[in-house]
Amino acid sequence: MSGRALVFATRNRGKLVELRQLLPNNRVLSIDEAQAQLGMVIPEVDEDADTFVGNAAKKAREVSRATGLPALADDSGLCVDALDGAPGVYSARYAGPDADDAANNAKLLAALANVPAALRTARFRCSLVLADVRGPLADAIITADGVCEGEILTEARGTGGFGYDPLFYFAPLGQTFAELGVGSKSDLSHRARAMRAIAPELQTYLAKTQA
Ligand code: IMP
Repeated sequence: MSGRALVFATRNRGKLVELRQLLPNNRVLSIDEAQAQLGMVIPEVDEDADTFVGNAAKKAREVSRATGLPALADDSGLCVDALDGAPGVYSARYAGPDADDAANNAKLLAALANVPAALRTARFRCSLVLADVRGPLADAIITADGVCEGEILTEARGTGGFGYDPLFYFAPLGQTFAELGVGSKSDLSHRARAMRAIAPELQTYLAKTQA
């Protein structure tokens, strides 16, 4: 382990495992671990920006400001061409503020009811942002995006994954994201692509700013 610790602003265990695999030489703390180590409560961040990078930057900056450590945050969602990019940043609450995955998927199917197969193209997008507001980055951020192209089926397939995975068909493997094994998804996904894209610059930054 080398460099300063990094806080990953997530409570999602799967995302934490993916990032740790990509940064085996860095100390990556979850929000809960950072709270326990620093003896503080890190406030929840309102994701009210209208872009993925805007939401991720807001989370990264606020967690970095609260902890005094470099903080990485992500924001992701599904963008459907026939719906002008919706649900986009509203993916988690597409069918309402407390919507669950089933309600969001039902709303998506209804919105695309009359859209033919050839026009059901979509992509998952992920933005990752590193902020270090009390370090050399100050107001600047390091950022990377990841995209995964697919199509929205007319009915759900598969039982794995979460969110829109059962409707998101990934043509190169002939399966939905809910039919892929966890290993394939964590290699191919928009989040994995964004993590691989940000990893080199992030490692260089952490090594350079070693406390
Ligand atoms: P988050 O930014 O990772 O919390 O994702 C926001 C929302 O986008 C989730 O609640 C899901 O509805 C959707 N989403 C993001 N990534 C995925 C994915 O890999 N599969 C399915 N849905 C996703």
